[in-house]
Amino acid sequence: MDVATVPKPLTHPLPGGQEGATVRLHPLLCGEMLAPHGYVERGDAGPARLREALGALGPRSRWAALPVPAFLVEHPTAGALLVDTGFHPSVVDGQRANMGRAGAILYTVRTSREQLVAAQLEQRGIAPTDVRTVVMTHLHIDHASAVSEFPAATFVVDRREWEAGASRGWRAGYHPRQFDHAFDWRALDYDGPAIDSFATFGRSFDLFGDGSVRLLSTPGHTAGHQSVLLRLGGREALLCGDAAYTWRTLRDGALPALTDDEHRFRRSLREITRYLEQTPSALAIPGHDAEAWPRLERVYD
Ligand SMILES: [Zn+2]
Repeated sequence: MDVATVPKPLTHPLPGGQEGATVRLHPLLCGEMLAPHGYVERGDAGPARLREALGALGPRSRWAALPVPAFLVEHPTAGALLVDTGFHPSVVDGQRANMGRAGAILYTVRTSREQLVAAQLEQRGIAPTDVRTVVMTHLHIDHASAVSEFPAATFVVDRREWEAGASRGWRAGYHPRQFDHAFDWRALDYDGPAIDSFATFGRSFDLFGDGSVRLLSTPGHTAGHQSVLLRLGGREALLCGDAAYTWRTLRDGALPALTDDEHRFRRSLREITRYLEQTPSALAIPGHDAEAWPRLERVYD
């Protein structure tokens, strides 16, 4: 797999931070992806093989519809930030152009024009070109689908995630054409000098240097997965990403069928669950929880 884009190393916080800043969070529902129940929680059967996780768990008509989220974060001085990108506009009419042949076969996506991130931003008076920063939790096909829609933004990704996404292809859930654009890509090295521990998290990066948006290294779902911790007005919000698909994973440790590295997945999950024990006031949002999603508010200050 050839990827032309070379991200620049992210070694310092991005400009625009402001001491004591708090942010506003808008959860955006971008559509749904169908998946076998065992894909989300594999039960007691141990690690499922790919074929079992994707195919042999009943007909697609009985699969679960998982919400696919992105998040708008409004920072008072650093402007509009997105966490993940939702679906590309072409996916409304079919998946193949954006996700490739394998992506169109393996995944079943439902979305609409109203659910595109650009449309949801417009409802809030924000143009796609106003988005200054996009944090990629990871580069899987349901998270990176609309990268092309934000050409003016600085994209932040874990260095290992970029390397995995660029080299491992559809078998690992990636479609590099989605993200191989000559934009301002920055790769964060979680072994580098700008990395600190925060709360229960061994490796975190203070994105604007003001404590308002912290990126957390939570690998395991993929090689370089990151979660995002936000400082709202009165409490913190933890966007778990796919480090935990559901509350069942957060509460009971129910593991998904597929992980890139189960040991690292468990370690990341432990950092998250300990954080939530220590910070009961925090708002936690798992990556694909169909029951939790409808209970979220439109905006959190
Ligand atoms: Zn994923």
